[in-house]
Amino acid sequence: MTSAARALEQLLLPAECLLCHTLLAPLDAERLVCPICRHRWRAVRPPWCERCGQPEPHFGPCRLCAEWPAALTLVRSAVWLADGARDAVHALKYRSLPRIADDLAAAMVQSLLPGDEASVLVPIPLAPKRLRERGYNQSEALADALGRRWGIPMSRDVLTRTRETATQTALTPETRLANVAGAFTPGRRPGVNTPATRFVLVDDVFTTGATLAEAARALEQAGARTIYGITFGRAVIPDFT
Ligand SMILES: [Zn+2]
Ligand SMILES: [Zn+2]
Repeated sequence: MTSAARALEQLLLPAECLLCHTLLAPLDAERLVCPICRHRWRAVRPPWCERCGQPEPHFGPCRLCAEWPAALTLVRSAVWLADGARDAVHALKYRSLPRIADDLAAAMVQSLLPGDEASVLVPIPLAPKRLRERGYNQSEALADALGRRWGIPMSRDVLTRTRETATQTALTPETRLANVAGAFTPGRRPGVNTPATRFVLVDDVFTTGATLAEAARALEQAGARTIYGITFGRAVIPDFT
């Protein structure tokens, strides 16, 4: 099928949910995920560590965020990375569907309040090579969609990625930290030494928090005082419960 024919087909066929393929109601025609699939995403809920948002079955200090830079004070994720939520992230990252970011942002918008201080959304950057391969940065698509909902700006100039890192999924929590060490540096226009600015790091998935912590470390070293983080998904890590 030619691309023109495919475009025509998309125009003539009613829009369907990307995940379950039911037809979307006219009201939801702009979306890629239907309301039923969105309601199936399982929200991450308290009780949790007040700082990193990880549910804590044990007493004592949280293992997950104990080593984080001090400026990274609050991190939340919207939903558990299971079933449909994993498919949605996969579509965002690998199926060239940055438009799905708005469906994901709709689920994230209540997870964290960026506050009334001057806040800036900072997407976790991709290395240039991966950005060229994918054509877009999925975290930037999320930050852009969130920024429109929250009414706060997004800046891609705050943080730069100095190198790509190995895919995190196969690594243990300890090797993940080493894997991302030094992967970020403040960007061309960091503005991080403005004390009133609250930086909100945005990423698609939180696994151990190593990526957010390393990005926060780079901003903190450049003078940032308050850094939040928000992700759409949170991976279940069996060895941390
Ligand atoms: Zn659906
Ligand atoms: Zn914690």
